[in-house]
Amino acid sequence: MAEVKNTEEKKNSNDREKLKKRYIQKNQNIYRIVSKIKLWPARSGVLHSVKTIERKGGLTTITTYCGETFTVWDSKNSRSARWLRNRWYREPCPKCGIPDWKLSKYSTTVFSHMKNGKI
Ligand SMILES: [Zn+2]
Repeated sequence: MAEVKNTEEKKNSNDREKLKKRYIQKNQNIYRIVSKIKLWPARSGVLHSVKTIERKGGLTTITTYCGETFTVWDSKNSRSARWLRNRWYREPCPKCGIPDWKLSKYSTTVFSHMKNGKI
């Protein structure tokens, strides 16, 4: 599992050098957005770091680094999808210990309508 993650990060860092900003297609469901961002805005306004995300039927289960579990419907237009796209959160979770680069990467992520990596 660690190997897969390493290759993914290597690929992403190459992309980052080229693009600087990360572009994520706007009209995607929770599962796809969270799998990329690995952050979860809880209803309380706390932004958690996502450890694992699983999809079962129409439900997505998110486990955070601080040990919380959130189960949501895999929807494009839910509260959490909207918050993710708008980057709404009150504070990063102190227990998750989200690294600064992850937060700054999130803040430069552009949610847009695009196809095949182009806007
Ligand atoms: Zn947390």
